[in-house]
This record gives sequence, C-alpha cells and structure tokens, in this order.
Amino acid sequence: MVQTLTPLKETTLPCAEVTKRPAAGGVPVYEAVRRQFDKAANLIRLDPAVRKILSTPMNEIVIHFPLRRDDGRVEMLTGYRVQHNDALGPFKGGLRFHPALELDEVKALAAWMTWKSAIARLPFGGAKGGVQIDPTRYSRAELERITRRFCYALGDNIGPEYDIPAPDVNTNAQIMAWFMDTYQSMRPAHDRQRDMHVVTGKPVDSGGSLGRDKATGQGIVYLIERWANERRTGLSRATFTVQGYGNVGSWAARLLARHGAKLVAAEDATGAIADPHGFDTEGLTVHVRAHGGVAGFGQAIDHEAFLSTPADIFIPAALANQITAVTAPLLDVRLVAEGANGPTDPEGDEILRRRGIDVIPDIVCNAGGVIVSYFEWLQNKQSEYWELDEVDRKLHAKITAAYDRTRDTARQRQVDWRTAAYIVALSHLEAVYKERGIFP
Ligand code: NAD
Repeated sequence: MVQTLTPLKETTLPCAEVTKRPAAGGVPVYEAVRRQFDKAANLIRLDPAVRKILSTPMNEIVIHFPLRRDDGRVEMLTGYRVQHNDALGPFKGGLRFHPALELDEVKALAAWMTWKSAIARLPFGGAKGGVQIDPTRYSRAELERITRRFCYALGDNIGPEYDIPAPDVNTNAQIMAWFMDTYQSMRPAHDRQRDMHVVTGKPVDSGGSLGRDKATGQGIVYLIERWANERRTGLSRATFTVQGYGNVGSWAARLLARHGAKLVAAEDATGAIADPHGFDTEGLTVHVRAHGGVAGFGQAIDHEAFLSTPADIFIPAALANQITAVTAPLLDVRLVAEGANGPTDPEGDEILRRRGIDVIPDIVCNAGGVIVSYFEWLQNKQSEYWELDEVDRKLHAKITAAYDRTRDTARQRQVDWRTAAYIVALSHLEAVYKERGIFP
C-alpha cells in the first residue's frame, strides 16, 4: 500500500473541552429534520407514498470493530453509515469522527444530504457516517488503522457507483487517501484503477480536485455575495462572526475577508475571541494550525458575548443545534449563512424569522462541498484534471442556481427560505418517484 504524505490536519478538535461547554439545548436533530420535512410536505401536499419513502432511511448500518492501540491493547469502536435515499443517484455524504456521534444524528445528516443534492440538481442521493471517537485520544498511526478497518468493515456497503464518502468534522483529505487505498486494496487488480472515485475530498496528488478543500467556504461566500448584491450593499464594509475555524469556517472567513469584510469575533472548541477592528484571518489560520484553536489570538470573550457580538453576518460552521430558543434572541446580525449542518433548530428558526434575520439554510449554503465532490467524481471517472478556474466557475453556476431556486420558491409560496429549500428538494424527488414508479 502506498503511504500518502499529506499531513493530518493540525486543527484537531479538543473534544474533551466541547463537553465542558454549556449546552445550548435545542430540539434533537432528527426531530428537527422531521419537523422541517413535515412543514414542507404538508404545504405542497406531498404524495403520501413518496412521503412515507422519504421519511425513512433506506439503510442504517452500525458496525462494531476492533482497534489495536499502539501499546497493544484492543478497543472496540462503533461506526455508522446511514444511506437515506438513492432515487437521484449513488448515496453521497461525509464521514466524521466525533465522541458524541450517534445513530439519530447520522440519520438526520444523511437526510440533509438527500435534500442538498436534490436542490443543487446533483445526480446523488444522501448518506452520512462516521466513527464514535474523540480523535485527539489517538495517534496518527491509530487514526490510520481506524480508517482502514472501518473501510474494510463497510465492505460492499460502499462503492464508487453506490455510496461515496467524503470528509466532514475531524476527517480530512488524508483520511480519504487511507480510505481509498484500503478500498482499492480490497478490489480485484483489474478494477482497482477504476475505483478512485469511491471517495471524494482526496488530496490533489491522489486524485482529488483542485478547489475541493475550500469548496464549502467558497460556496458560502458566493452566496453571501449574491445576498449582498440583491440588497445593494457591498461587502467591503461588512462585519461578520464565525463559529468553528476548521475547514469550512476558516475558508469562509479568509475568502470573505478578501472582499474587505471584517471578522470581529470567532469561536471554536477552545474558546471565543473578539476584536472590533477585525482579525487578520490568514494570521488566525496559522495560529489555529499551531495551537489547535482560536484561543489566545485575541481578547477572550465568553460564549454569550460571542453570540451577542453585533455584526452584519454570522457564519455558524461548527456543530448542530447552536441557534435555539435560548440563543437565537442573543444574535445581533442581519444574515445567518449556515456553514454547519443543522446549526439552527426549529425553535431558533422561528425566532430568527420573527426578528427579521435572513437565513441562507444549510442545505443550500454549505452545498459547495458536495458540488465540488461531484466535480471530483466526474474528473476521476473521465481521468481528467480540471483547472481551479473551471472548478470555481462551475461551482458558482451550480450553487447560485440552487440559491435562486430557493429564493424564487420562498417568494412564490410566501414561506421562509428553509421551507422553500425543502419544497425545491421534495418536489424534485416527488417528480422522480412519480416518473419511475415504485417497484414492483
Ligand atoms: P472541522 O473539523 O474542520 O472543524 C470543526 C470546527 O468546529 C473546529 O474549529 C472546532 O473547534 C469547532 N467546534 C467543535 N465543537 C465546537 C463547539 N462546541 N463550539 C464551537 N466550535 C466548535 O469540520 P468542518 O469540515 O469545517 O465542518 C464544520 C461543519 O460544516 C460541520 O457541521 C459539517 O457537517 C459541515 N460541513 C462540512 C463540509 C465540508 O466540506 N467539510 C461540507 C458541508 C458541511
């Protein structure tokens, strides 16, 4: 097997710290998906058969597998893969490493992937998975063994034309390289080279796409630009706050800062910092790489002060359930651009709506990741490598089309943008089921 050289992300999540932070409470994420789904399904009188099908994930895989630690001890770990729906194409969705990961959360994340692909008109279904671990407790060699053993245990439940994982919280291009290498090693020799597209988000040297690393952040910034243009306000004097300074949050912050916008507060698992004059986002990225988080880069503030920081835009780019009945009243912003999956629960949503705060919902706003994953998958299938300009241009076209569909539906139906995004997704899936019928 070839040992790839891409370093593991240095912005590792100090997971033990996460559990010490006061929880925002909120509606459990799977319940949140159900409520969001029901609201849109009722409005469009979704076909009852399609409604039943989409209400239940197709496959829920729970795997217990052994890990040999560096000191020789053996630990049993639990991994998940939920395949929600594949009416539009192969299952597609990330893999995360997190100590609090559990089946219901993975089910919610898998369903969001189905809606996201449908809204962006990608030929993919929805899936999600991961391993319930605190990655900071394991060495690099142990993380490699976890990845390889999980891939092995999934066996034929994944595949380049069947179910295609990608990076998510606490996983990265290196994990994808190990995953691909393991999958290929399990294939017959004559299939191996064809199967590179079993995962996306790989290192560029190992078949990844240019622009995939920044894709989610880039997509968020394209949509913030569109939102600002439509309101005839520029971004050069805008202020913003970011929760999560990992892949999504740090790219969104750096790309937005290139428009002149100022990052006035940032929070991650290590704490929160603020500076009304604006942070150097590139410098903060270097600091996070070196120190594992934003803490220490500026004046420390508490969680409540972070959420209450006045700004034009808030980009939640960490975990789910951050904007709830408890925290939504604290926000002092004009726009919430959801980088994370499920950062706002239904009660938080209602408060944002009443307060007139715009929301670009996650299933539109963070679709840049899966859109460029689709481009990577296409490039691998055609043995092509596209230039960065081409990737960015195509990403811009696809994600702004998803935004426009959502905005137009919100106007026509007089509904909030999240409900509109669901309507776009469910109407497309309903049409597909009606055309294809239900076997047998
Ligand atoms: P990451 O592991 O690179 O970064 C996660 C960030 O969240 C870190 O900065 C971490 O410190 C912070 N964090 C964790 N717990 C926190 C807490 N309790 N409070 C504040 N900050 C906390 O992960 P990522 O890939 O950037 O993903 C972030 C979010 O974006 C997730 O919800 C993920 O599902 C979603 N997302 C990611 C992609 C992608 O392409 N990576 C695509 C779409 C959506």
